[in-house]
Amino acid sequence: MAIALRTLDDGAWISVDDSRRVSVSDVWTLSRGVFCECEPAYVLLEGFFGTGVDGSVVVADAVGQCLECGTRDSIDRLPVGRIVDGEFKPYSPEAVQSTLESDAGRQA
Ligand SMILES: [Zn+2]
Repeated sequence: MAIALRTLDDGAWISVDDSRRVSVSDVWTLSRGVFCECEPAYVLLEGFFGTGVDGSVVVADAVGQCLECGTRDSIDRLPVGRIVDGEFKPYSPEAVQSTLESDAGRQA
């Protein structure tokens, strides 16, 4: 896998192959129980502290806060996109990230 992944600007961005592709200021929709008890949970990300690849899925470790109940916690291995034919294809933050509940790499 020749994709270069890193966090930039104190965790404000995830860089893929030296270009800023995923911004921390997005609100991600997470299904219930992954982050808090909201269904779904609208989580505003505050910072990325790690990134990596799980199969063909790009995952990020982040800190976020639920806009509904105020829960503030870290999120491990949030799927933020996929590598398809060597190119990064970002997931939509609005899509419910049900992949978090089981195996993020199962579609690899
Ligand atoms: Zn909540």
